Amino acid sequence: MANYYNEHTVLWLNGSFVKAAEAKMDLYSQSLHYGYSVFEGIRSYKTGSGATRIFKATAHFDRLQQSAAALNMPYHWNTADLAEITYEVLERNNLQDAYIRPVVYAPANMSFAENKESFLFIEAWEMQPFLGNKLLSVMTSSFQRPNPKGFKITAKAAGHYVNSILASQEAKAAGFDEALLTDMSGFVAEGPGANLFYEKDGKLFTPSTGNILPGITRATVFELCDELGITAEERQISLEELKKADAVFYCGTAAEVVGWKNLDDTLFPLPWEQSVSKIIQEAYKHKVTEKAYRTTAETAGLA
Ligand code: PMP
Repeated sequence: MANYYNEHTVLWLNGSFVKAAEAKMDLYSQSLHYGYSVFEGIRSYKTGSGATRIFKATAHFDRLQQSAAALNMPYHWNTADLAEITYEVLERNNLQDAYIRPVVYAPANMSFAENKESFLFIEAWEMQPFLGNKLLSVMTSSFQRPNPKGFKITAKAAGHYVNSILASQEAKAAGFDEALLTDMSGFVAEGPGANLFYEKDGKLFTPSTGNILPGITRATVFELCDELGITAEERQISLEELKKADAVFYCGTAAEVVGWKNLDDTLFPLPWEQSVSKIIQEAYKHKVTEKAYRTTAETAGLA
């Protein structure tokens, strides 16, 4: 279990920097009782120049605002201010390579009615890649992703993560590293906390939007593919099709880019070191730390 905070840790809570150990929230909050809050998962990196950079801070704080709007939560912050505050949270905690967690939550309210105000805190801690670095053994979950007609699935809402927790715990109890969830029609959707791409004959494929959280890392993979001349396509993907892949990876802010070893009994045949997926993994690492990455693909003869 990660060590999220100690007696020195500082977080930002509704306008002030406070000690994490002394921060308080209302136990009558609608967020705690009903999972009615929205959040972000962001990373900062120590870059090649030594400076700390929050990767795609604007995209993340814009998504936080959109998530709040999707759930009818009042939102009175702006992206630029929140990015600035987050840099201060990092500095006050002496963090460079960090995971950052802003949460927008509701006041005391036991009814289902809309609120007149929302609250916000921003925490940061050191975190290793959340699915590790080795190739993953993945299980097709018995749980499907939430029905897009039952939830605002493009919002990063806390309540959706009960589904993620159930799927991930089921996979781990069965001896796998992580789960893969299908959508309500049985097509490949995403992981509990990551999007996926599969590789076939040097091209990448990923599930279309509509039943997934459209990840910022997923968008970054598309950008990298553009820059590196790799073809990437969105489509509806069946489990049978996925099992014929040469290689597969999960991608997300916390997970970064992490390859799969197998899905259920199916081993993916392409050695990771020889895959285009591995080139994306390397390019992603370089992009977030603002180091040149074209050389990786050039070395492999693919750029
Ligand atoms: N899908 C789900 C369900 C997630 O929780 C996440 C993590 N936020 C992702 C995909 C990947 O999103 P991102 O790349 O924006 O972190």
